[in-house]
Amino acid sequence: MIKISVRDIPSVGLNIDQRVPKEGIGLSDEEADIRSPLSVKAHLEKANNVIVADTHVTADFGYLCARCLKELSLTEERSYKFDFEVDPTVEYIDLGEEIRQEIIMANPTRILCSKDCKGICSKCGVNLNTEKCKCKK
Ligand SMILES: [Zn+2]
Ligand SMILES: [Zn+2]
Repeated sequence: MIKISVRDIPSVGLNIDQRVPKEGIGLSDEEADIRSPLSVKAHLEKANNVIVADTHVTADFGYLCARCLKELSLTEERSYKFDFEVDPTVEYIDLGEEIRQEIIMANPTRILCSKDCKGICSKCGVNLNTEKCKCKK
């Protein structure tokens, strides 16, 4: 959880800069392959009953190459804009939960280990980047 007290957001806005482990916002290994703490930078502004959080999350995301299934890890920054409706009884908002949902719902990205990855032979199953196909002759 990244708990922010609504009262503590001044009229000029509030900047936060935190490093949280993925477990710290409730992400499990099944939900997301993230191999570093998440660096969370956000600018929050309160106007009437809405808090807008301009949020940037940087972390090392794990992938499998779409062609040869090699494991990769890429440092990515993802940007989100969250709106929280807060009535006067709301004391805290949880930015972590919003980030968790965005990460879980993100569409899988097609990543290649290199732009000319040769992939895996569909017949003999060898990784064509490291071995010669055995079924050509
Ligand atoms: Zn590959
Ligand atoms: Zn082959």
